[in-house]
Amino acid sequence: MSSVVIHYGELALKGRNRSWFIQTLVRNVRAALVDLRVSRIAAVVGRIVVTFESADDWGEIASRLSCIPGIGNFALAEQLQADVGLIGDAVVAGIAGRQAQSFRVLARRADKRFPVPSPQIEREIGGRVQQATGWRVDLSNPEYVIRVEVLTHEAYLFLDRMPGACGLPVGTGAKVMALLSGGIDSPVAAWRLIRRGCRTHFVHFHSYPVLSNASQDKARELVRTLTRYQLSSRLHLVAFAGIQQQVLVAVPPPLRVVIYRRMMLRIAQELARRSGAHALVTGDAVGQVASQTVDNMAVVGAVSALPVLRPLVGMDKDEITRDARSIGTYATSILPDEDCCTLFMPRSPATRALPAAVERAERAFDVAGLLTEAVEQVVTERYRFPSVRAPLPSLSSL
Ligand code: ATP
Ligand code: MG
Repeated sequence: MSSVVIHYGELALKGRNRSWFIQTLVRNVRAALVDLRVSRIAAVVGRIVVTFESADDWGEIASRLSCIPGIGNFALAEQLQADVGLIGDAVVAGIAGRQAQSFRVLARRADKRFPVPSPQIEREIGGRVQQATGWRVDLSNPEYVIRVEVLTHEAYLFLDRMPGACGLPVGTGAKVMALLSGGIDSPVAAWRLIRRGCRTHFVHFHSYPVLSNASQDKARELVRTLTRYQLSSRLHLVAFAGIQQQVLVAVPPPLRVVIYRRMMLRIAQELARRSGAHALVTGDAVGQVASQTVDNMAVVGAVSALPVLRPLVGMDKDEITRDARSIGTYATSILPDEDCCTLFMPRSPATRALPAAVERAERAFDVAGLLTEAVEQVVTERYRFPSVRAPLPSLSSL
């Protein structure tokens, strides 16, 4: 048997809703590990303890837990009896063979009934480590931190602590609908909302069959990656070529991008309404491309009665790219595709589309009819992580 001790991130600060946040996190951790040999998941005095059967699963467990929002940090932990002498023995055995110049012991007593106060636990165990290794004690900037936590009946020793995704457990925020292109930005925008606890549905607009279905495949792959963070997702695929062709015929080139985006938002809003989502999410950042000005964001956002969340609005491309790499979407985002907007993109989009001009241009085609048609033809796919297959039916039931 091995244990992982999970510490909450920001959630530790939540007041009255704290137990609901914790229950949601426990449920998400359980779902993330459902196909692994886990014997117990329990919330105990301010942390979650996961007990699993085989040490071989640790790598997989660590990789899954590192994606779950709401976890501040976690560590493979040795479970011990709450006895300072025994904990000292385990520490000395656990660090055998490790190299360090300096160290400190950090002890926490979650149950104040334990008779030895934390500073004394630290001193006693620190003394044993020093004796066994000769390492120097450095309280302010140690190379190596040995952590001990004493709960009511048991104690945990952690030698390596791993950072969690932080944020809040998925399910504690509102449901939202993210507009997912095949680019670098929108998957990062969606992930930022997932990490704030919002269950995120996705909508992708494609130009198949005018263009290949490469953009749909990219969107699917991006959703697969993002599903590691929220465990289940829905992707709505919307055929957009018909709308683009109408805009191409009816609208002067500088206004086209803004009008494509307004159509996307109208459709996304209707899909959001049907799935109970309370906001739309896009990957816009001010000034990143010519059409992403504050004025254009206002004209585009004006068609949506739901709030349009733009979590990347003030970020630089370098910062967004760094996030994309760390969440694992970057490699997919840079694959070549034929994004629906590259084909129909004018050479110089308006940087300041005026609302009156945009509304006049939209009178040249049937906005409501195209919206209804697009929504009627939407194709919805469901994704799960881990994708556990149901057991095969036994022969007798066939
Ligand atoms: P991204 O890297 O996300 O494609 P971008 O910098 O290329 O963003 P734009 O092409 O101007 O920006 O698109 C702005 C936002 O509009 C995107 O971040 C995305 O949320 C949405 N969007 C654009 N194209 C599509 C599409 N084909 N399907 C769904 N959403 C889209
Ligand atoms: Mg794009």
